[in-house]
Amino acid sequence: MPTNTESESRKLLGRLRDTMAEDAAGQARLDKITHLTADSMGTEVCSIYLFRDNETLELCASQGLKPEAVHQTRMKLGEGLVGRVASTGKTINAADAPSERGFRYMPETGEEIYSSFLGVPIQRLGSKLGVLVVQSKQAREFTADEVYALEVVAMVLAEMTELGAFVGEGAALKARHTQSLLFRGGTGQEGSAMGHAWLHEPRVVVTNPVADDPDTELRRLHDAVDQLRVSVDEMLAGAGSDGEHAQVLEAYRMFANSKGWMRRMEEDIARGLSAEAAVEKEQSTARARMAQVTDTYLRDRLHDLDDLSNRLLRILTGQGNQTGAELPENPILIARNIGPGELLEYNRKLKGVVLEEGSVGSHAAIVARALAIPLVIHADRITNEALNGDQILVDGDQGIVHLRPDETVVSAFRDKMAMQAKAQERYSSIRDTKCTSADGARIELHMNAGLMADLPSLAGSGAEGVGLFRTELQFLIRNKMPKRTELVDIYAKVLDAAQGKRVIFRTLDIGSDKVLPYMKSLDEPNPALGWRAIRVALDRPGVMRMQLQALVRAANGRPLTIMFPFIAQYEEYARARDEVDKVLARERRLGHPVPERIEVGAMLETPSLAYASRRFFEEVEFLSIGGNDLKQFFFAADRENELVRRRYDTLNISFLSFIENIVARCESTGTPLSFCGEDAGRPIEALVLAAIGLRSLSMRPASVGPVKSLLMRYSLKEVRDVIEESKMRGEQSVRQAVMEYLRDNS
Ligand code: PEP
Ligand code: MG
Repeated sequence: MPTNTESESRKLLGRLRDTMAEDAAGQARLDKITHLTADSMGTEVCSIYLFRDNETLELCASQGLKPEAVHQTRMKLGEGLVGRVASTGKTINAADAPSERGFRYMPETGEEIYSSFLGVPIQRLGSKLGVLVVQSKQAREFTADEVYALEVVAMVLAEMTELGAFVGEGAALKARHTQSLLFRGGTGQEGSAMGHAWLHEPRVVVTNPVADDPDTELRRLHDAVDQLRVSVDEMLAGAGSDGEHAQVLEAYRMFANSKGWMRRMEEDIARGLSAEAAVEKEQSTARARMAQVTDTYLRDRLHDLDDLSNRLLRILTGQGNQTGAELPENPILIARNIGPGELLEYNRKLKGVVLEEGSVGSHAAIVARALAIPLVIHADRITNEALNGDQILVDGDQGIVHLRPDETVVSAFRDKMAMQAKAQERYSSIRDTKCTSADGARIELHMNAGLMADLPSLAGSGAEGVGLFRTELQFLIRNKMPKRTELVDIYAKVLDAAQGKRVIFRTLDIGSDKVLPYMKSLDEPNPALGWRAIRVALDRPGVMRMQLQALVRAANGRPLTIMFPFIAQYEEYARARDEVDKVLARERRLGHPVPERIEVGAMLETPSLAYASRRFFEEVEFLSIGGNDLKQFFFAADRENELVRRRYDTLNISFLSFIENIVARCESTGTPLSFCGEDAGRPIEALVLAAIGLRSLSMRPASVGPVKSLLMRYSLKEVRDVIEESKMRGEQSVRQAVMEYLRDNS
């Protein structure tokens, strides 16, 4: 049997729905809602405050307060009780409001005669929309039932807002999803793009927040949850029993079976919400909590709950898969986060990517880099705001996104893109010129790659070869271990595309941030210092042998260059080299062709290797400085940690002196040396690296032009003098001195 308050609540929601269906202006609807709610709750006042802008709330409709205050009374977020409800997202229930902390008296409303106050936030999936308030003269706290009833009304109001019910002449609200918005995030990959939003997971639109028949809704909810449980169980069975993936699924399962979650949704339905509105109400509460929780474990769990709610909403509404929908022109992908495989499935169609989460070192960022499309990360809440097809401008250089921009912003952005295109033209005019500095030093410029998608850049960028082919990307984008024959096929295609240019294949560099979904992952306290790269390969040599064999077979007699990652001491190189020799011997025994020439080198990514024995420098056939890792270990600053990753300048004297030392050691043994971290692709850094003696740099393809253009204009000897003088002056970094020199000599 429904309780009294439940049936009262249902009646009210039914009336709200009728209001929605009426052909009335937005303001008339708001007025009617305040009237109906005050009446149903038995209070003298009901008011709706909505956001005018991100910081300001406006009284938009009221039953009981003075009519002249409507659209006049405004308050800042956090100001007064209403502002506090909005800023905290929490209900305030006060019997004696004027004595409540933060109460602000607004004489124009005539509210001084009302003692009790109940304010609940109007919010939808983390978006703050406004505050719903009831007040009465009698000094009393509202009961838990009444609070609940008002929260349900607020939920329906939020849905109605989303559906545009309050837009129109004289109404307070601009239609949602029509305003221009600016998102400040971080740079995942530089570049600019202009296009139209495409949501990786489109938001589900609930068109029926109110339902008449709770029994039907309960049945729908239970059926959907059953389906959800089955699908989570299936996913779990497919994921095996280990790995982070399985942990997440376990958390899903926990929620899917959570009694509290179900009970709250059932209560919402009993009060008149539809099944999908009940799911969304829970989801909104979780999102509001998410914004306030700093504990990462708890945040992750709230994220899991959010994902699960999305799945449930898709089951309930049948919405959400985009089959049939057409990608807009110049699509810019919007997602909370995305895996490398999913990103690649878009098949080079995307012009840019914007993520709410993500990190510079994530695989998605690596793929975006390979695809040479701008990526902005940490664009908070953009999946809530963007709609498919919205115009969007992505400024990857500054980590800024403009959603539905004004015409002035669009035209400024167009100018900027035109300037960039001009610069590109300049670079293309020197594409086939070898890079020689103004004082005649020859510097080889190579490119970093890892995907088939990278290969066309070999010709387009003017790179002289591939200085780093990150073979792990082919492993990361799959959901199972690739077979040897598949690898042979891929590596052969890479060599074919290179048309005789040298490709340095780096063997599998996994561990740390690069976790293969299908390999047992360890829960290491410090994964960057843990069981990774060559350490895994030497301890479990099966995969490395398979990979080496694939490389030899792909070469099919052609020259082959192999490089081992993360070598920290001589013995690791010697053992890895031994594996190459064994594979070659075996291939010979099998009668397969072996490469006419094979070079085997190592990456210098740990400071220890810079001080290895002379014997190592004599034996290793070449060295490549992995500046990303080397820098993180040199400064003890995690390359993935936003708090520290930009803290130390690559042009810091200590780091440069360290690299100079490596250059000197390589010169004394005649060991070819190159540099392949991200810094090689930054023109100023590249110039300084060349000035201190590096003659080979490998970078992302888009950087080859800008780096070449700068290097060709300056004398390395002069830059070297500038560096020396800066050192003599005791400066911490040579950056400023070099920048000044470039300015004075431009
Ligand atoms: C490096 O560490 O500099 C490097 C090139 O390797 P990765 O970025 O793949 O670790
Ligand atoms: Mg590395």
